[in-house]
Amino acid sequence: MENKKAYTGIDIFRLIAAILVIANHTSPLLDYTASGNFVLTSVFARLAVPFFFMTQGFFLIRDVERDNGKLVTYVKKSALIYGVAIIICLPLQIYKGDFSVRPLLPSILKNIFFNGTLYHLWYLPASIIGGIIAWYLVRKFGYKIAFAVSVPLYAFGLLGNSYYGITRAVPFLKNLFDEVFIIMDSTQNGIFFAPLFIVLGAFMYSKKRKMPKRIISAIGFCLTLTALVAEGLILHGKDFQRHDSMYILLPTVSFFLFSFLMTFRGKRLRSARDISLIVYLIHPLFIVAVRFASGFVGLDKLFVDNEAVMFITVTALSFIASIVILFIFGKLVKKTAVSKTQRSWIELDTAALRNNVNEFRRIMQDGCKLLAIVKDEGYGHGAFEITKELQSIGVDAYGVATVDEGIEIRKFGIKGLILILGYTDPTRAKDIKKYDLTQAVFDVDYAEELNSQGKKIKIHIAIDSGMHRIGIPASDIEAVESVYSFKNLSVEGVFSHLCVSDSKNEDDIEYTNNQIAAFNALIETLEEKGLPVKVKHIQASYGLLNYPDIKCSYARMGISLYGADSELGYKSNVDVSLSPVMSIRTKIIQLRTYQQGETVGYGRAFRAERESRIAVLPIGYGDGIPRNLSGKASVLVCGKRAPMIGRICMDQLMIDVTDIDGVKVGDIATVIGSDGDERITAEEVADMSGTITNEIFSRLGRRLDII
Ligand SMILES: *Cc1c(COP(=O)(O)O)cnc(C)c1O
Repeated sequence: MENKKAYTGIDIFRLIAAILVIANHTSPLLDYTASGNFVLTSVFARLAVPFFFMTQGFFLIRDVERDNGKLVTYVKKSALIYGVAIIICLPLQIYKGDFSVRPLLPSILKNIFFNGTLYHLWYLPASIIGGIIAWYLVRKFGYKIAFAVSVPLYAFGLLGNSYYGITRAVPFLKNLFDEVFIIMDSTQNGIFFAPLFIVLGAFMYSKKRKMPKRIISAIGFCLTLTALVAEGLILHGKDFQRHDSMYILLPTVSFFLFSFLMTFRGKRLRSARDISLIVYLIHPLFIVAVRFASGFVGLDKLFVDNEAVMFITVTALSFIASIVILFIFGKLVKKTAVSKTQRSWIELDTAALRNNVNEFRRIMQDGCKLLAIVKDEGYGHGAFEITKELQSIGVDAYGVATVDEGIEIRKFGIKGLILILGYTDPTRAKDIKKYDLTQAVFDVDYAEELNSQGKKIKIHIAIDSGMHRIGIPASDIEAVESVYSFKNLSVEGVFSHLCVSDSKNEDDIEYTNNQIAAFNALIETLEEKGLPVKVKHIQASYGLLNYPDIKCSYARMGISLYGADSELGYKSNVDVSLSPVMSIRTKIIQLRTYQQGETVGYGRAFRAERESRIAVLPIGYGDGIPRNLSGKASVLVCGKRAPMIGRICMDQLMIDVTDIDGVKVGDIATVIGSDGDERITAEEVADMSGTITNEIFSRLGRRLDII
């Protein structure tokens, strides 16, 4: 369920980096300020390529142990792109006279492997060679050795780049580099330049949970960038530079920039990557084309002599062309088309989620706010997708079951109260504090242990008003009072939980009313004693839907937030219109006809009583479809019900589509949700499986993608 928690910050910066590269090649400020232009093109713009290398490490080298094939795929793909780019740029090369150099073959080889056949294309061989080096270093020797090798390589490269001034002064180095420069024109390449950044990117992925916070990264970036500008200006002033792409501070600045970008998580911007790559590859063509065209129509003054206009024109043309190219190749895929590439997936209806929140807001008492329960991956809907959507509509209180769930959603950037409803080992107090979480405290011993960790943390006291699960008994005022006295525990709220608020049975209603009364009495006593109760809450879904008059600070909505009832055919006391948020869909991967008497699947549990058309769906109990639905439930295909037949397997199940016309491989099958006029509800599935909707949701497997 991880697929949507993409690194949006990194995606966005890909576009900025592409613009920086164009700046580097057009010198937009040259007419206005020479040193300003130097800072922009030879310092700021120099962040672009290291960023691209780090991105490569971040996405490619990560999990090296697990995916051997990734490198081969990457090298093949990059080589293909490089090949295409070489062909596209061939006319320019001929025009520049690259083929009149003698001896020709060494020059061609040198260009192909190190310099790029056209000046900016060096990036592609560098990313292939650097990628291979970084991959093997990390894989065979681990990060320590990988750094121990790539840092000296980079340092050596510095001496042939920005620090050439030193090399020039030392005859031995000078001779050495003269040799190096015969083989490769510059040290900006796949051996000296790329590996360090690729290793660094991969390392940052492997330590992604330990990266500095956004604010620290931002400050670090600003400080080191300032120092980098100074480094650049000094070296430039001393005329040290043979080339200006490598600096001592560049890896540090890149580190902070990258860790800053890593903190922005959100939607994957699929096309950002493609657009930035295409812009990178084609912009030199536009530089030449604009020069040529403006000379032709007599506008050289405007375009060629004014570098800023040139920069803007080339940027605009490159982006427009990239988008057009992508469009032509159909890469700007619509969201619905994504499903075509999935196996089985969960579809979220965010409008339904917003509707449900608005319905709660309508029925809640004044002063009561929604505390969205997002435990267990937001009841299987995806904690990320759900919390992000809720945050965008102003929900500022969330409930989770564990400290790690709390940390996870805090890291998504969720603000406000995050209440851990369940047990947290007291030694994790430091995490509770670090991520500003709030812990439910359910007895005095636990409070004492938590307090003894010496970390000042926020808590809500859990009161047992009659459920008899966790909580301090509502009658035990002394115990509750004593929790207030722990100096490291700041009591931010008091809450309880109802155990039969869904029941319409008179006994149960009385029981619930007694629970509410006991809770209220306790709150009153605490207030009389001068112990502050900043917030109080007792309602979960059925607490609000059946007892909407209770005056509380929060309603802790779980199952009904997702537009479901725990049980089939349930009707609550208030009139609310909640809509289901989740659909589960899969697609037909095989269709076969079996003759009467033939059997299908494990245990030969299905026997065809007539000639039968049987479809296979790639979804099973491993994905959370209960095995005991075998032979009972249906799915929707072409808007009609198709019964599941035989035994549900871990990864597959079979359906009978004999009575549905026009079914073909690739057709979508709906396990939960609607198709045409038909709908299969989660309640119905739960009922057939002999459980409640909550359990069906929470058992959904991690293999289902969320779209
Ligand atoms: C899970 C949970 C809820 C949410 O319950 P629903 O019935 O799904 O709304 C509320 N409060 C506590 C303490 C919970 O553990």
